[in-house]
Amino acid sequence: MFDVEKIRKDFPILNRKVNGKPLVYFDNAATSQKPQVMMDSIVDYYSNFNANIHRGVHTLSQEATNAYEEARIKIQNHFNAAKSHEIILTSGTTHSINMVASGFSSLLKHEDEVIVSALEHHSNIVPWQMLCERTGAVLKVIPMTLKGELDIDAYGDLLSEKTKLVFVNHVSNALGTVNPIKKIIDMAHDYAAAVLIDGAQATPHIKPDVQELDCEFYTCSAHKLCGPTGVGMIYGKESWLNKLPPYQGGGEMISEVTFEKTTYAELPHKFEAGTPNIAGVIAFGVALDYMNSIGFNQIAAYENELLHYATNKLLEIDKMVLYGTSKEKTAVISFNIEGIHPYDIGSIIDKLGIAVRTGHHCAQPIMDYYKIPGTVRASFSFYNTKEEIDIFIEALIRAKTMLS
Ligand SMILES: *Cc1c(COP(=O)(O)O)cnc(C)c1O
Repeated sequence: MFDVEKIRKDFPILNRKVNGKPLVYFDNAATSQKPQVMMDSIVDYYSNFNANIHRGVHTLSQEATNAYEEARIKIQNHFNAAKSHEIILTSGTTHSINMVASGFSSLLKHEDEVIVSALEHHSNIVPWQMLCERTGAVLKVIPMTLKGELDIDAYGDLLSEKTKLVFVNHVSNALGTVNPIKKIIDMAHDYAAAVLIDGAQATPHIKPDVQELDCEFYTCSAHKLCGPTGVGMIYGKESWLNKLPPYQGGGEMISEVTFEKTTYAELPHKFEAGTPNIAGVIAFGVALDYMNSIGFNQIAAYENELLHYATNKLLEIDKMVLYGTSKEKTAVISFNIEGIHPYDIGSIIDKLGIAVRTGHHCAQPIMDYYKIPGTVRASFSFYNTKEEIDIFIEALIRAKTMLS
């Protein structure tokens, strides 16, 4: 049974007031709020078994190492990776993508082609542009349609024997569109191209199965799924992780070091130089346990209800324009009210305790496509309620009256 009132009690921040009003937090696509169990696990680690991992023979170090490696296995199970060393722990999606982009420097040559989509976050554009500058590879872009979907026929036309790598997000953070990634992956494989899926925006709502998807890489950030900031992961197929050179040099990633030559450690350590965010990784595992205890099917069904409820209410407002009207969407609504700047709406409703995002959402190419400076984005999570949506709609109507 999905009991939102019971779930809300797990999130202390939902009790606070903002500008004298109860907080209505609709900026979940930027980062999620945190359940008490996740925060408790961080305090527990630092209070009871804080030590560096993989190095010490002493008890605390062994306990910390065990907890860290148990978290890796929780993540492996969550994503259904075949092997635990295919899960590389990183500081987040941005770090993960840069790791792969950097590694491909040695695998691409002049005039090879790589394909991105028009719906990407800057994190999944800029590292690849930098890669193309370094290697002379050519960046191609899958165009989008007015509904905020990818043009799959046009994608088919871009693919060729020259295509080496395709990178698209599973869900768009700016519009909420769920992309047909299985199809995108299969089509790339027809040309033996590798595929990286940016799952930062999908993983709070969908539990992906990386073996079924058959992608080469899949990445996410813990902070968007009830975990701490500064932690994330990248799944990579073992054969591909073996092909890529290490990203950073340092401690923990070596097998042997002399001044003549260094040999690298086995996976996953080859990609985990230095002391990681130990408490954060353990807490990421706890956050996944927490979300799985609620159930991703229940989460998706409930959030979908919120999405439809809010969409219908918004469309009753005169001069409302919604961006991203794909049938397959997570609970993200990007909109503008004609004649009003999104920033002004965001500022007024903040005074009423409501947190939404305004601007380009790190996806400027999408805003350019619609020829707008930005949108107001309301993004819901499983701890939000229809009552909060009612408060939000009322606040919007008030802001609109003040600004028109
Ligand atoms: C949030 C987000 C990112 C960046 O994640 P970080 O945690 O800031 O590294 C990348 N892609 C998408 C689709 C996102 O939503």
